[in-house]
Amino acid sequence: SAALWQRELREQFPIVTAHPESAYLDSAATSQKPRAVLEAVQTYLTTSNANAGRGTYPWANLTTELVETTRERVKEFLGDPEPERSVVHFTSGTTEGLRTVARDWLVPHLTDGDEILVPYADHRANLDPWLEAQRLLAARGVHVHLRALPYQTVSGDYDHRALGDLVGPRTRFVAATHVHHVYGGDMNVHRIRAAVGPDVPICLDAAQSVGHLPVALDDPALDVDFVVFSGHKAMALPGTGAVWARNARGPAFRPAGWQGTPNTVGIVSLRAALDWLDAAGPDRIAGWTAGLTTRLTDRLRHLDAYEILGCPTSLAADSALPAAQRRHGIVTFRHCDIPSDDLGFILYSHGFMVRGDSLCQAGVGAKDGSVRVSLHVYNTVEEIDRLLTVLTSLA
Ligand code: PMP
Repeated sequence: SAALWQRELREQFPIVTAHPESAYLDSAATSQKPRAVLEAVQTYLTTSNANAGRGTYPWANLTTELVETTRERVKEFLGDPEPERSVVHFTSGTTEGLRTVARDWLVPHLTDGDEILVPYADHRANLDPWLEAQRLLAARGVHVHLRALPYQTVSGDYDHRALGDLVGPRTRFVAATHVHHVYGGDMNVHRIRAAVGPDVPICLDAAQSVGHLPVALDDPALDVDFVVFSGHKAMALPGTGAVWARNARGPAFRPAGWQGTPNTVGIVSLRAALDWLDAAGPDRIAGWTAGLTTRLTDRLRHLDAYEILGCPTSLAADSALPAAQRRHGIVTFRHCDIPSDDLGFILYSHGFMVRGDSLCQAGVGAKDGSVRVSLHVYNTVEEIDRLLTVLTSLA
């Protein structure tokens, strides 16, 4: 059964099982790590730790090979149908990944009068690099226009009809988000592809989808050119992430190589994490967290003291909620009287670790403060029920 399957997976997280009285509900910030990842790191460091790309001895060669084969592992994990045409570049996380796409691909390829579409109400990490690119180019006398991706007021995903009006012959690039980090909704990027046509590169911030649900590039619905994600949110160590670039549409992405020593240990952990996730099954993980998410939202929405944040343009609860199964393990809410910082502390006094602040959201929305509960496969029905008991007592 799903419950047995989940219990077996949960037991593979030492930090989780060591703290049965606590509940880690902040996986959108970073995930906990399964034993297989910890062991892979321990094994590497105790058997073959060396620097990559510069050795004449086995440990260094093995390290180089680990780095290079992990690039291929990332492609495989993402279901890359043409691995010979794509590249994988390791980063410290999504922030650096998006910055790299901006600096190493976008800036060199834009010319005066070009337009790019960017999200103004997603994570700041997916806005700042594009603003920075615009500033850099302007300093060289190249003026490019940033257009805001429009959102639908009810569902909270991108508004493909409004998008159609924004796309023109000078549209050169779209930056989008796969799963929103505040609302948990799938942003339906296939509609962006439909709106911009076959030739405009799309860069996907997949920080909240990789590790949580299938991210399958062989699915025509995911016709994107860059996938940027954080390894540390997908069971790998802190300071890990990657950019995958298709390199089939437009100029190739050729990021600068290592400027020094790569994060070999992080890359080893990423490889073990992807193996672990594939074995667990991203579709089963998504099914588990969807069940917990539905349980939480279905009860929370009946407590008048709470407002569940629905989407970037409409903060109304309830009717504006995306379907619960579309909230991929993320539920953000406010209490009508208790400030979010205080609510976060109250919840922590009961053992719940949640995020309680502005959630790094660009533009509107969660800036007034809210509490975010974000889940992963190690979370349980009992944790959700305990949380609901506390939330109900405060309502
Ligand atoms: N984009 C999204 C959608 C995110 O949720 C996050 C992390 N909260 C980031 C970017 C930044 O990721 P990192 O901290 O790994 O750079």
